[in-house]
Amino acid sequence: MYNKSISLFSRAQESIPGGVNSPVRAFKSVGGTPVFMDKAKGAYLYDADGNQYIDYINSWGPMILGHAYDPVVKAIQEKAAFSTSFGAPTELEIEMAELIRSMAPNVDLVRMVSSGTEACMSALRLARGYTGRNKFIKFEGCYHGHADAFLVKAGSGVATFNIQTVPGVPGNVSEDTLTAPYNDLDAVMRLAAEHKGEIAAIIIEPVAGNMGCIIPQEGFLEGLRAVCDAEGILLIFDEVMTGFRLAAGGAQERLKINADLVTYGKVIGGGMPVGAFGGKKEIMQHIAPLGNVYQAGTLSGNPIAMIAGYTLLKELKENPSIYKELDEKTAYLHKGLDEVLQQSGIPYVINRFGSMISVHFSGHPVNNFTDAASANNTLFNEFFHAMLAEGIYLPPSAYETWFLSNALTYGDLDRTIAAARRFFLK
Ligand code: PMP
Repeated sequence: MYNKSISLFSRAQESIPGGVNSPVRAFKSVGGTPVFMDKAKGAYLYDADGNQYIDYINSWGPMILGHAYDPVVKAIQEKAAFSTSFGAPTELEIEMAELIRSMAPNVDLVRMVSSGTEACMSALRLARGYTGRNKFIKFEGCYHGHADAFLVKAGSGVATFNIQTVPGVPGNVSEDTLTAPYNDLDAVMRLAAEHKGEIAAIIIEPVAGNMGCIIPQEGFLEGLRAVCDAEGILLIFDEVMTGFRLAAGGAQERLKINADLVTYGKVIGGGMPVGAFGGKKEIMQHIAPLGNVYQAGTLSGNPIAMIAGYTLLKELKENPSIYKELDEKTAYLHKGLDEVLQQSGIPYVINRFGSMISVHFSGHPVNNFTDAASANNTLFNEFFHAMLAEGIYLPPSAYETWFLSNALTYGDLDRTIAAARRFFLK
């Protein structure tokens, strides 16, 4: 059933490290052979062997309207005929920036980059350049891309593979990275007091997606905002997952918290390699060529990436009902899984916010990385494989969030719940 994937994986390992271009794809923690994809349409993926899957990864977020969304595909095809890159400014980049500004709160100026990593790395540099301070606070289990400074107690693959210290990250780089448990405002206040006048920024996933889905407790983000205001620290919302997914204006709009700088990724490229960072003019004007905080990119604002993202974002802006539908579908899945798991008697926690959802097999609330790490992840791995065999494609790690697309039908959700029932109530 997976013959082609098995042979592709063995061939891939001859020329690609671990056979994959991003570690979590290797299925190393869940075991087995990664499924090599061939094509996708709407809610469904098709692998190299022709197996069909209902997709709950959606390229880790961007496929909000499903795969190969016709208007996006058409826009890319048309634009490609006009050249795939100029390395010079285009009107489309202005339209993209204007569209982002019209949707995202607190974004006066926005700079396009090519990945979420670049967006976060650049936002941190800007925060440091703007404040003249070097230290910053991040949260255990949050992932902000693979730039050196962020690879401390990071989530996603770093957590999945249990990498405590990343070789190659110099100690003098990571010593400026201060960490606190997610949802622990007291820990943040202590760090702010201990390092008074030294902290440039607090960066956070406003709803965390890289240790499974973790929801900010009431008052936590408001507390961070207050600490930042009191101490002259910049609050950076990493909205690489939440941006344009939780609402047209992302977590800032949905949670009604203002960030000083915001980073975006994947979603704004409609699946093309794109990221962006933006914020108040007063801060953003320190970026080159206006200021001396240097940041650049040959392929930044790439026309194919821009038209794909622009087409998707415009659709999201013009049809707010998409968010309502997505939330309702995710709530339906939540309820279905809840019923099955309750009957099973297995300890579990389902965390959901908007169209982000994940299941931890734990008898305690999961509010931070330690909680997530103490869950029964062996059971998650078995669950993952049982679902895969049923044609349901979940993230291959308990430290990742499931992302729904609006292409999913209630029939797809019922199939998913039924597959979970067969596994848990076997
Ligand atoms: N920030 C967050 C919150 C992310 O989830 C990710 C990637 N999953 C990144 C940053 C890095 O983005 P990229 O993989 O595009 O570099």
